[in-house]
This record gives sequence, structure tokens and C-alpha cells, in this order.
Amino acid sequence: MSLRRTKMLCTLGPSSCSEEAIEALILAGMDAARINFSHGDLDFHQKVINRVRSVSARLGRPIGILQDLQGPKIRTRKMQGEGVLLSSGDQTIITTDDIEGTAERFGTQYSELPNDVHPGELLLLDDGKITLRCLEKTGETDIVCEVLIGGLLKSNKGINIPSGGLSAPSLTDKDLRDIHFGAQVGVDAVALSFVRTPEDIRALRRELANSKTRPLVFAKIEKQQALDNLDEILSESDGVMVARGDLGVEMPLEQVPIAQKQIVTRGIEQGKTVIVATQMLESMITQSRPTRAEASDVANAVLDGADMLMLSAETAAGEYPVEAVETMDRIVREIESSDWLRYWRSEEKLLTRISQQHQNVVSLVGTRAAEELRAKAIAIYTTSGDTAKLVSGYRPKVPLIAFVLGLQEQRRLCFSWGVETEIIREASGFEGLLSEMNDRLQEKGPVKPDDTVVVLTKVPLKPSQKTNTIHIHTVTKPIL
Ligand code: PEP
Repeated sequence: MSLRRTKMLCTLGPSSCSEEAIEALILAGMDAARINFSHGDLDFHQKVINRVRSVSARLGRPIGILQDLQGPKIRTRKMQGEGVLLSSGDQTIITTDDIEGTAERFGTQYSELPNDVHPGELLLLDDGKITLRCLEKTGETDIVCEVLIGGLLKSNKGINIPSGGLSAPSLTDKDLRDIHFGAQVGVDAVALSFVRTPEDIRALRRELANSKTRPLVFAKIEKQQALDNLDEILSESDGVMVARGDLGVEMPLEQVPIAQKQIVTRGIEQGKTVIVATQMLESMITQSRPTRAEASDVANAVLDGADMLMLSAETAAGEYPVEAVETMDRIVREIESSDWLRYWRSEEKLLTRISQQHQNVVSLVGTRAAEELRAKAIAIYTTSGDTAKLVSGYRPKVPLIAFVLGLQEQRRLCFSWGVETEIIREASGFEGLLSEMNDRLQEKGPVKPDDTVVVLTKVPLKPSQKTNTIHIHTVTKPIL
């Protein structure tokens, strides 16, 4: 079977947190697991992470783990019973007092809400299903609202203020505890929710500065303010997630498709990992087959060149988690094998990245050489994984195999488009390295004697040396 180049990120939850379920998702094609820190406690997350690590080791399949932080999401407090019915035309009060909510008055944990919201502004509850308008603020704690569109409001539902500039810090106390936990267990990537400015990402990086595992840092783009600051946020991040769930509440729904195109395009231009998320196969939460529109949505994200597609409730809480992954895998492979796929190549933008100029030029020229020569693979020796990410950013038509020294680097590359990985022993010289790559590529399958492979490496072979060498290699029979 041909390689699938667009990666798949699956959210783990009640439907998919047992060892058996995790194994089934990996065998269906999951490349990385998302652990949503908006739900569950640290004990539960620890168990799930241990299971992913153990199944991944048993199957010999590297699986990245993404920690998705809750960020400054505003939520309702507990409601009476199974929820309360807000009726259109009625008035209701949101308070910062710690009360059990009724239709007349319900609480939020976000104590700054009365300062941040102003008369006339809209508040969207439960992913926009319920709309309120702020009429007035009374005292320090209460906001009187008119219910414009009513509905059943349950406990712990999100509150979005599309027009609002919230004063909440980007990292809440809960996030700080979760970041510390994630660094201890060694997650491979951390995504921050409700990013507004590049400073939010810098703050996250400061918290991670002492972590041994150097997780990748992804910015979730789900606010207009983040879109306004997109280029600066991209510069500070290793990647971005098009978080369409909240984005579609924070901005008019009809603006989300173009916002998605902008985020994906500018992310690829800057050589960053781009994840498209939310409702990709939503109907598969309860049905064994997706809608045609969902199949098209997956296809379009592949055609746009995203690194990774995400499944949320489909795998976390749905009735058909494995079928959802298998379905996405089939759609992606079909699109990737079609003539419609135009590989991304934004050479000018990438070449302006001065900080990685040598590596970057070698990556670009190596990609071109491999395509000109119809090489069977681009083989990269990369100690940090950075050169593999750079080459992936050029979306080469030729298979891309990164030879890394450890599991940590291998898992970080689970998030990058088209990168396959192999762990290799540290070599002392170029000849030894080349001979090992030559043999391992043939074990892996797609390469046979007399094929051409473009090798990107460094001379001398020491970790501090950046990639500086393109070697065009004719494959020879392995020495037995
Ligand atoms: C989203 O809003 O699309 C998203 C991915 O974030 P979350 O699921 O954490 O709300």
C-alpha cells in the first residue's frame, strides 16, 4: 500500500482510552493522540498516556502525544438537574457568585466577566447554540442579559464573547499545573487554546524552558484576534491548529472557510505544522458512514496541504472511533493519489528564514534534486528532526525518510507531513552512516539496488553540526 502523507491526530476519550481501543486506532492509522485537558483529571490522563506509550512500543509504531491545554475558556458553573431551559425573550443573570444555576441566574468561574463584557455585546453559550445579549451590569458580580435564542443550558458549557477583548491571562492556574504535568510525563507537543497574541506562545515557551523533552508548541487559532496576529503567532510557534469549533462561534460561520485557507497557506509558507480540526467526520459520532460533505471537507484539507487532520468526538466519544479513522485514511489516500493534488512549494518565503539558512537551502535543493532525478526517496540524517521538518515543508513528491537517534525525535516527527522515521545508531563517519542507510532503506521496502536516493546529512557528523551536505546515492545490495 502507498504511503499516506497527511497525518491523522485522534482525540482519546471514553470511547478510545482502553489498551484495546488504542491498539485498534493505531492499526487503523492514528499517527498521534490528542489528550484534551479540558476534560478528565491528571490521574486519568496519566493512565491514558501510559497506555499509548505501551501499545506503541509493543506494536513498534511511534505515536506522538499532543497535550491540548484548556486555556482561558470561560464556562458556566453547575446547573440544577440535567440543565435549565432558557426561553427566548426572557431575562437571565450571569453571576460570578458560586451558585447552582437556574433559568433566572447561573454562575461562571471567570471572575472578570462583569468587567470584560459591555451592554449590547453578545454572549454565545454552548458552542453558539444559545445567544444572550448583555443589557446591563449590576454590582460587581452580575450581568443582566436578554435571551435572544434560547435552549437547554447544561453545566460546564462554554461562553464565547465574539466582540470581546478578554483580560484573562493566556495561561490559567490549571494550565500551569497541566503544563508541569505534561513536561514530567514527556508529552511530544503542547497546544494552547484561545491564543490571542504571540506573547501567549512566548509565555508557554517560558514555562517549558526547563522541560527535558522539548515538546513542540502549537497555537490553536480560534479567535479573530489570533487571526489578526497570525504571522507573528506563527513565527513563535512550531505549528498551528485551525480550531474550527470555537472559531465558528467567535467569528461569523461563513468567514471560517477563508480563515481556514489563510491559516493553512500561511502556516505552510512559514514551514510550520498545520492541523485542521473539528467536525471533520462529525456524523460518524453516531453513524457508520460520513456525509458526502464531510468526505469533501477531509479531501479539501488534504488538497490544501495540511500536515495533519484531527478527529475529536468522533474518536473520543463516538460509537465508531475505528471506522472514523479508517474512513479518513481511505479518503486521504484517494486524494493523495489523484492528479488534483498540487504539492505545495513556497520557496521564496522559506528561503527568507535566515536562522536556518544553510539547512533550509540544503532542504530545498535536496527536494528539487530528488524530484529531478526521480529518486526513490529522500533520506535525511537528522539529530534534532529539524531538517526533516524543513524538507516536509516543501511537500516533496518523493517519499521522505528521517533517520533519527531516539524515540523522542521520532515522535516529534509524527506531526509532520509525509515524514516516515527510522531510528539509527549514532555513526562515527559518513561512509558507515551511508552504508547503514543503504541497508535500512531496502529493509523498509520502497528501495532496491540501482535506485537513486538523495541523502541529506552533515559533515562532520557531530550533533552541533547543521545539515550541510547533499549526497546523491546509488543503492547497492546490502552486505550480509
Ligand atoms: C476547536 O474549538 O475546534 C478545538 C479544537 O478546541 P476544543 O475542542 O478544545 O474546544
